[in-house]
Amino acid sequence: MVAAMATPSTTSNGTSNGTSNGSQERLSSYNPATGDLLGSVAIFSAADVDAAVARAKIAAETWSTRSFATRANELDAFRHALAAEADKLADILHRENGKPELEALTEVMMSLGHLKHAAGIAEKALATKKVSSGLLANFRATISYHALGVVGVIGPWNFPINTPMGSIAYALAAGNAVVWKPSELTPLIALEIEKIAARTFALPDLLQVVTGAGATGAALAKSAVNKISFTGSAATGKRVMLAAAERLTPVLMELGGKDAMIVTDDADLEKAAEAAVYGGLSNAGQACVAIERVYVSDAIHDRFVEEVVKQVKELKVGGDDGHLGAMTSEAQIHIIRDHLEDAVKKGAKVHTGGPGAISGSYIQPTVLTNVNHEMKIMVEETFGPVIPIQKVKSIDEAIRLANDSKFGLGSSVFAKKSARSIAERMRAGMTSINSVMAFAGIYGLPFGGVGDSGFGRIHGEEGIREFSRVKATAEQSFSLPMNMMSFRQKGDMPKQLRGMIKNLYGDGIISKAGDLLRKIRI
Ligand code: NAD
Repeated sequence: MVAAMATPSTTSNGTSNGTSNGSQERLSSYNPATGDLLGSVAIFSAADVDAAVARAKIAAETWSTRSFATRANELDAFRHALAAEADKLADILHRENGKPELEALTEVMMSLGHLKHAAGIAEKALATKKVSSGLLANFRATISYHALGVVGVIGPWNFPINTPMGSIAYALAAGNAVVWKPSELTPLIALEIEKIAARTFALPDLLQVVTGAGATGAALAKSAVNKISFTGSAATGKRVMLAAAERLTPVLMELGGKDAMIVTDDADLEKAAEAAVYGGLSNAGQACVAIERVYVSDAIHDRFVEEVVKQVKELKVGGDDGHLGAMTSEAQIHIIRDHLEDAVKKGAKVHTGGPGAISGSYIQPTVLTNVNHEMKIMVEETFGPVIPIQKVKSIDEAIRLANDSKFGLGSSVFAKKSARSIAERMRAGMTSINSVMAFAGIYGLPFGGVGDSGFGRIHGEEGIREFSRVKATAEQSFSLPMNMMSFRQKGDMPKQLRGMIKNLYGDGIISKAGDLLRKIRI
């Protein structure tokens, strides 16, 4: 039974987040595998959210003045405290989200990696940089990075810790406070993390959680935060942008995906099949960077399909030790069923699973062939355990189809000779070569998409700078006789400027010598 849903209620049994806000309404969290009530939490009103942001502003003022070393020490202490509670966190994740224990533990581990990485790179990534001052040679030109203040993080339910932590860790390391609105389907895990943060950080309001559904998220987007980092669907992302526009609050958008995998005829077929199965089915396909469509060279198509089907049939669905857990969201199951029925109606061949293989909150993994871009399963985000495989005649056709998508988050290519050039031609924020999803596990790589998959980058140095204000400084070291920033010019300035234009940028000797030098270097 799928039951992890936002159910406002007036009961106060179960978990309390302990926050003193005035709201009487509560949100219930259920185990999607059993339907058991796990707890209920407060629904933060707009006033509650504003109060949390105001508290966070005070924390941010102090936190931003701390040295990188002090912040790194506190982030390390937070990480150690979370690691000490890894089993408990994984258990809550398992029960609240439905993912198997192994996947829950993996998610906890990946989240801790972000904290370690962010604390480790902050000082170098945000160090003041000197740039050439060009014509203004008497100036010292620098770029420096400063904390924004408060970052609002709005998260999804599919990776309820790891996805938000990809923003939270970097925002904190850059000197900001964070107010986090978790998904209404997974509030309990966020509150557990907030509890651990409150006892490890010296500043109690540095990381706060505001629970609730869309209205609470909308209130955060409209609040006085200095940036919103949103992860979720494109449809909600547009609403967040509209709300944030009221205050011109900058936004970072991590949205949905429809990741393509290309398999050429010289690829390692067994490895490619193994990757397609993992990429399509891990987290029961509920991953923004899940492999949602595979384009395979016609020379190896049948053998590839045979291998994929064989490997899929080895998987166990359900149980604590299953490979695929319960689906978290009932609404998502309807979308998956709709996509499967649409594909079958339009001629897709079902090798295993299919629309009839949905039972309660469990979906048997499905392999489809004979698919095309007229089908929803090849163009809309399915977000379920489905591997649709399309036969292609050439690499060019594979790339054209892979790029025929409004999304562009991750992608994958299995090939020998042409792997790198195919990867470069795939329109996506990230590509794994001869692997799947690897870019998400390398913390130094920026994570994000193009098109309907969003904009802005989390993780790595690019990610930490997203949570910083860039400051340009031009410092005059000594004055020159000719001062461009003054009305008190001496001599015939127009004549001097004409000479400079010719010499520096036109047919003058300095300009030509510069062009020649560049050509030699090319
Ligand atoms: P969703 O868009 O339904 O909800 C995301 C969050 O937005 C939730 O916390 C929700 O309460 C909140 N929200 C809802 N309405 C809001 C509003 N009007 N204003 C502000 N906040 C609002 O997405 P979901 O179903 O939780 O997550 C699944 C989606 O997230 C998929 O499309 C998936 O691909 C995407 N996702 C993307 C990434 C990434 O990094 N690109 C990672 C994980 C998931």
